[in-house]
Amino acid sequence: MNVAVFSTKTYDRRFLEAAAGGTSHSLHFYEPRLTIETALLARGYDAVCAFVNDRLDGDVLARLAEGGVRVVALRCAGFNNVDLQAAARLGIKVLRVPAYSPYAVAEHTIGLMLALNRCLTRAYSRVRDGNFSLESLLGFDLQGRTAGVVGTGQIGSVTAHLLHAFGCRVLLYDVIEDEACRSHGQYVPLDGLLAESDIVTLHCPLVPATHHMIDDAAIARMKRGVMLINTSRGALIDTQAVIAGLKSGQIGYLGLDVYEEEADLFFEDLSGRVIQDDVFTRLLTFPNVIVTAHQAFFTRDALEAIARTTIDNLTAFESGGPLANEVSIERIKR
Ligand code: NAD
Repeated sequence: MNVAVFSTKTYDRRFLEAAAGGTSHSLHFYEPRLTIETALLARGYDAVCAFVNDRLDGDVLARLAEGGVRVVALRCAGFNNVDLQAAARLGIKVLRVPAYSPYAVAEHTIGLMLALNRCLTRAYSRVRDGNFSLESLLGFDLQGRTAGVVGTGQIGSVTAHLLHAFGCRVLLYDVIEDEACRSHGQYVPLDGLLAESDIVTLHCPLVPATHHMIDDAAIARMKRGVMLINTSRGALIDTQAVIAGLKSGQIGYLGLDVYEEEADLFFEDLSGRVIQDDVFTRLLTFPNVIVTAHQAFFTRDALEAIARTTIDNLTAFESGGPLANEVSIERIKR
């Protein structure tokens, strides 16, 4: 199949070309994000390969369908950027990579916790500057602390396992409880998790029910000085509410790998530009905040698995075989 790959970085190209070797797929790589303006680039292609910040709303999908696109292969797990109803109406199949390496994201999550707690970024800069003082680098032991994991799917359950291994008391919350995860912690209602946890880490998808689930009211329910981590999707958190929480000291540490307005920032080198997003730049001013630019998935293992599954998804579509990784409204409702 002829595939237009959007939001291409050098690493996408390297891993996708390796995975497509020996198949009949012809991949054409485009650097721009998929938007209503760039959708025309996909005219004449059978398939589009898209990533987390590509826009696949009704208008874009309509333009893709007009140009002959029959399938969208997402090279990610999340699909909150796709209008599934419009896709179904237009006869465009949407495929995704439901699992690649939950370890990549869970390990990055733990990395953010350790970096925040032990002030690693400040310590690194200090030592390089010849400043060997320990003043204000005081951390706490994870052992014995209470960690709350919200969403215990693939990534949340690995995170719970790792936190359990650190000796944390692990509290779990999910709308669907997972038997296997009970060996890492105890399921409790969300309010109880927020009230009792020293660390709260988010691992649920962005859906209407989880949009801004961490708002002023949720933050008020948390322990004073809580550590909040979000490696899932930016809009799980109301950023303004979190900034207020940081200013008041209610939130003691914040680790983000995602941001609700990240589409205009992340994955690009903007170091020579003035960042216009005042909410984001305010976040960067806090000494107890670490932001990484949606890199939790970014391991060699994960990229190999993403590329392999993306190509397998396209092959399954081309051969008319069962689409194990299709995202459809019916399947989401089940
Ligand atoms: P998953 O589908 O395996 O697990 C998600 C879990 O969230 C499920 O158990 C589901 O029941 C639960 N859930 C759904 N609604 C909920 C609610 N209202 N409250 C609590 N739990 C709820 O997904 P996953 O692979 O573990 O991914 C989790 C999140 O991580 C997704 O949002 C995904 O987009 C994000 N992600 C981020 C990166 C990154 O690089 N930062 C990479 C991969 C995935």
